[in-house]
Amino acid sequence: MGLASIQNVGVIGAGQMGCGIAHVAAIAGYKVHIYDLSQDRIEAGLATINGNLARQVTNSKLSDEDRKAALSRISGSADLNDLAPMDLVIEAATEDESVKRKIYAQICPILKPEALLATNTSSLSITRLASATDRPERFMGIHFMNPVPVMKLVELVRGIATEETTFATAKEFVSTLDKTITVAEDFPAFIVNRILLPMINEAIYTLYEGVGSVEAIDTAMKLGANHPMGPLQLADFIGLDTCLSIMQVLHDGLADSKYRPCPLLVKYVEAGWLGRKSGRGFYDYRGETPIPTR
Ligand code: NAD
Repeated sequence: MGLASIQNVGVIGAGQMGCGIAHVAAIAGYKVHIYDLSQDRIEAGLATINGNLARQVTNSKLSDEDRKAALSRISGSADLNDLAPMDLVIEAATEDESVKRKIYAQICPILKPEALLATNTSSLSITRLASATDRPERFMGIHFMNPVPVMKLVELVRGIATEETTFATAKEFVSTLDKTITVAEDFPAFIVNRILLPMINEAIYTLYEGVGSVEAIDTAMKLGANHPMGPLQLADFIGLDTCLSIMQVLHDGLADSKYRPCPLLVKYVEAGWLGRKSGRGFYDYRGETPIPTR
């Protein structure tokens, strides 16, 4: 179990992605420590992981013994110093470059010099983020998909300075998590989101222009294109703030007007309607069944 050179895995951010990464790493036998800004967020994250592990036992995906063992390998705190013993730290904080840069400035002096630092960013330049660390050669993108315990793919992205041994270690680490790897070059939003997010943005334009209702658009894409989820449902699932950030990175990074974020997406984010995680987005999740908000 685990990997010889990596035993302790740190995760920064106890949101949807950080919890998912901690979950799969703990099942694979790594000791995991999660850091977030407050003890409340840590508690909420640990409760989510607990619930998700229990669901896997109910669905016969995991034995109760393995669930208990995985849980015992996960700890969390709001103290960055607790990440000092980590061999690999995966940053999964909010998709905002200034937030990530600040985190790297704080964490680098704490980490062992040989520790690897990775980001789960969906879209930001790995090379640029690497330059905000003291270890660009031991920095790269390890991009998990949401929900991490379910989705098989991980995109690996090297920055210009990433050393081959860093890449090889990351590859081996991801394969111990029972995930499939694709390698993407360091271009805005990599592969999956370069293709997926413009489709979601187009679905929001389709709603904005009144071509169809939320329900019509999602039903059309589910039954007409055989997508397991409608694009607006998927946007809510990803988080509308994350969707907007990715569109902005595509728009700025590729300087093509076809990536212009839909004004309706901007409006939802401004309203704090961020999708499932905030209780409301293109659907309202506060009742028993999600109700379209338009
Ligand atoms: P989220 O909003 O659920 O969680 C972000 C967490 O980061 C929050 O708990 C927040 O408190 C924490 N945070 C903010 N500033 C911090 C700081 N300075 N130090 C420590 N923690 C801090 O977001 P998410 O969906 O989990 O996304 C996290 C990252 O993963 C982003 O880079 C995002 O682009 C990427 N990602 C998201 C998805 C997705 O579908 N949501 C998929 C792949 C990758």
